[in-house]
Amino acid sequence: MSSKAFTDNEKIAKELRSMIDGDVLSTDISRQLYSTAACIYELTPLVIVVPRHREDVVNVLKYSSDSGVPITARGAGSGLAGAALGTGIILDFTKYMNNLLSVDGEVAVVQPGLIYGKLNKMLRERNLHFAPDPSSGDFCSIGGMLGTNAAGPHTLKFGATKDWIESLTIVTADGEVMTTSELELDNIVEDGSSFMKYAKGVRGILEPNADLINSARPNVNKNSSGYNVYEVIHEDKLDINKLLVGSEGTLGIVTEAKLRLIETPKSKGFALVSCATLEKAGDSVNRLMELAPAALDMIDDKLVELSVTANPHLREIIPSEARFVLFAEFFGETDEEVSSKLDEVNSAVMGSGRPAFSVKNSTDTDEMERLWSVRKSAVGILSKIKGSKKPVAFAEDGTVHYSLVGEYLEKITEIFKSEGVEGTAFGHAGNGNLHIRPMLDLRNEEDLNKMISIAKRSHEVVKEMNGTMTGEHADGIARTPYIKEFFPEMYPLFKQIKDLFDPNNLMNPGKIVSDAPQDVDENLRYGIGYARQETNTFLDDSKWTDMTELCHGCGTCVQYCPVSIATNDESSTARAKANLLRGVLSGKLGSESLLSIDFKNVIDECVNCKLCLVECPTEIDIPGLAQRARALYLEENGISFRNRLLGATKQLSEFSTALSPFSNWFLSIGIFRRLLAKLIGIHPDRKIQKFRRGSLQNKTFPEIQKGTRDEVVYFGGCHAHYSDPRGELKSTIRLFEKLGVKVRLPEWRCCGAASLSLGQLDSAASDAVENVGLLLPFVRKGMKIITSSGSCGYALKYELPELVGTDEAREVAAAVVDLYDYLGTLDSENAFDGEWKPIEMKVVYHQPCQHRAQNTKYDATRLLKKIPGMNFAPIEKACCGIAGTLGYKLETFDLSMKIGEPLFKDIIENSPDYVITGTGTCQMQISQATEIPTIHPVTLLNRSYTPHDKP
Ligand SMILES: Cc1cc2nc3c(=O)[nH]c(=O)nc-3n(C[C@H](O)[C@H](O)[C@H](O)COP(=O)(O)OP(=O)(O)OC[C@H]3O[C@@H](n4cnc5c(N)ncnc54)[C@H](O)[C@@H]3O)c2cc1C
Ligand code: SF4
Ligand code: SF4
Repeated sequence: MSSKAFTDNEKIAKELRSMIDGDVLSTDISRQLYSTAACIYELTPLVIVVPRHREDVVNVLKYSSDSGVPITARGAGSGLAGAALGTGIILDFTKYMNNLLSVDGEVAVVQPGLIYGKLNKMLRERNLHFAPDPSSGDFCSIGGMLGTNAAGPHTLKFGATKDWIESLTIVTADGEVMTTSELELDNIVEDGSSFMKYAKGVRGILEPNADLINSARPNVNKNSSGYNVYEVIHEDKLDINKLLVGSEGTLGIVTEAKLRLIETPKSKGFALVSCATLEKAGDSVNRLMELAPAALDMIDDKLVELSVTANPHLREIIPSEARFVLFAEFFGETDEEVSSKLDEVNSAVMGSGRPAFSVKNSTDTDEMERLWSVRKSAVGILSKIKGSKKPVAFAEDGTVHYSLVGEYLEKITEIFKSEGVEGTAFGHAGNGNLHIRPMLDLRNEEDLNKMISIAKRSHEVVKEMNGTMTGEHADGIARTPYIKEFFPEMYPLFKQIKDLFDPNNLMNPGKIVSDAPQDVDENLRYGIGYARQETNTFLDDSKWTDMTELCHGCGTCVQYCPVSIATNDESSTARAKANLLRGVLSGKLGSESLLSIDFKNVIDECVNCKLCLVECPTEIDIPGLAQRARALYLEENGISFRNRLLGATKQLSEFSTALSPFSNWFLSIGIFRRLLAKLIGIHPDRKIQKFRRGSLQNKTFPEIQKGTRDEVVYFGGCHAHYSDPRGELKSTIRLFEKLGVKVRLPEWRCCGAASLSLGQLDSAASDAVENVGLLLPFVRKGMKIITSSGSCGYALKYELPELVGTDEAREVAAAVVDLYDYLGTLDSENAFDGEWKPIEMKVVYHQPCQHRAQNTKYDATRLLKKIPGMNFAPIEKACCGIAGTLGYKLETFDLSMKIGEPLFKDIIENSPDYVITGTGTCQMQISQATEIPTIHPVTLLNRSYTPHDKP
């Protein structure tokens, strides 16, 4: 039965709400968020269920069975083939059912929504890990890995997900719960349990067909196509897990998995092997495979070229004659064992008559990371390709025997050539598993036809080579239309399996087995039917339209967006914003929805931290899009008094400073804070930094000029001037003096960071125009504008030219330099030729997100680490959660603290004397949450650095 028969999603949602504890989402906005994933397809579900526990899943499946509404399970939506899309009920496991339940020896019990990277992080202290390692591991879920039989570079050594499963707890199509285990064939008996029923059924289907199964098995060492019937019966045992893993939620829904773990390797070595031709690369693969590498990956000539063009420094690693590059990793019990393997690599591929012309070996952790990063950054580089033709994934995972990988790529290249398309290939050469990406614009009919032809032809190529259409990404929507033809003898068995588990075809219909699968070119996110609608908003500007369409749904933001990490809500991800805006652009959501509160609520979950600009592979400006969408809403609905106040940071700071110390006293008294909460909506628990007199403006230092080196403008911002004039402000000035840099502090206006985060673009723009007028004369004299606050620096460098839109604004923005970048450059020119006095203290350094987003060459640690006696405890990069004004507001204070939790925990566990951080609001948030004092980096630098002539 097809879900197309169901139209009343509100009725379904109401019925589901009455039977489960979890959330049921049914608005057009929520349905749009779940309509796509990291694939080229878009299917709108009826409702989304976010189950809290297994019983919810049982009830939903019973509902499905009774009503005929189909179900599709979803993890992080990072699947590339459309396997997690459906038109019925979507079950999202990542919000609540995402826990590590137990670890006992080398076995972990997990819920399906747990993110793979988080699991391994939790296992680190036990020196254990879950071995299958997809490149998407930082953001994909265990449920998704089970659904696709995910694999990764180290599958070569360790196998795929299916090889590490002890047992699964599954809810079946009729809502029964069963826990699987490996069974002796003799022990399969009718005992009334679901498990035995299915075990018996599977045995009955597979055993009589053992010869067929053996003869039809693709000759590959990894496979995610069709049902994995090949290993289920083995040596008088039946392991049903081998069948369930990779079944894309079409046979049952996993609610718990018992995973086998393994010790992390003791010693590692790495070899980067360069070859001049494809033939030689293929030869190298065969020779390297003889040495049993743990991983053996490859990038092709186009990617080598793209990588080096994007990152010219890679030429230090990749020789200019290199056309194909292989990445081989070796694990061993001892360093000696690994070193001798690396020697063997050299003799296997280098020298007369051998295929490679260069090998770079390493056993150094940082260097190995640097060499691996060439391969890992390849996908990111593809994501950044500009223009209408994009690298498209639909036949992207073909797999052949590794000895045929050169021949396979040659044939694919011939297909690209004859179709007249550019394309690239990369992937796991040791598994014969190449990710091919033709460059196509699917909105163009000619390219769409090429896609259909390339899909068909490339599947034929792998079939001729006795390979498989997908080694790790699964069939999904992209490959299901070809399954019958690809596995003509096996398809009837696949169908019997499906009928056994899901006779009414309600579990993820249209995947793997389907009588009427959707065509590869149907329901495309961007197909020939896609047309940009006029909206009479900023979205009509091609800059923002193109920006919206950059998001390819990969899901990386699930794990870098601090709001998404804190809430585990799909609506919090960066892609959620892009999905909604695309919904408006495509006409699926009317442009009036831009003004709806549901839309605004999703947009408001972007807290303007800017990490999208550095962490998203496409560098999409989600915060810029969110600011503009928020501004539209405000235009229609007006700005609240509280938000006006929060946006007027500079005026408010000036006023409070003028009234200090009375204002500080006022803001510290509980009753007044509660009054502020009532009257204007500032959270009563928000501890606000003290205001201090001592701001300096319209001044030049040193007043008696002895500076020789440079003359700069210092833009300190509100925190330096009004909260830390004796620290951040004066230390910066003093340090410049010590370095012989003449400093000017001209008049200035607010950088606009707060107003922008609140969507108050007009007031930010008017300050920006004034700042251009105030700063341009100095810039024209050749001075740089130095910022010591991450948020001011970001706003002046990137937001100001966008807001003002003139050449003058761009000139000013181009002169803005972050303080640590400036000092780092001076240091590289040996300007710090004085003495660094010891400061004995244990510290942690927190880099504010908006500093990170500036992607500067140097950060504060370059100089801080010169201070003798300062002991740095390492902490992970994370957001503190203050996020502009988020941490002030009554309704978002708790979220702000939750976002910061991982960072606070990390800091507290290290118990430093001080937290060093360069943005005032981060200082305020961290000191409140951890009760550990915070300090600006420049204060310590100035305290320690003493030039020889002691000015
Ligand atoms: C940049 C990038 C790199 C990638 N690299 C790799 C790689 O190296 N190796 C690799 O294998 N894949 C890779 N992938 C693909 C993808 O990450 C994997 O397929 C991953 O396993 C999907 O996990 P997910 O949580 O996103 O699942 P989803 O995409 O949400 O779902 C995948 C499938 O699992 C099913 N499923 C989810 N939860 C359950 C459940 N509880 N019970 C039953 N079925 C369930 C879904 O129905 C669907 O069929 C990559 C993707 C991207 C974007
Ligand atoms: S916003 Fe970026 S990281 Fe997130 S899904 Fe889109 S492309 Fe991927
Ligand atoms: S800018 Fe920050 S808060 Fe906004 S979507 Fe990107 S990562 Fe999330």
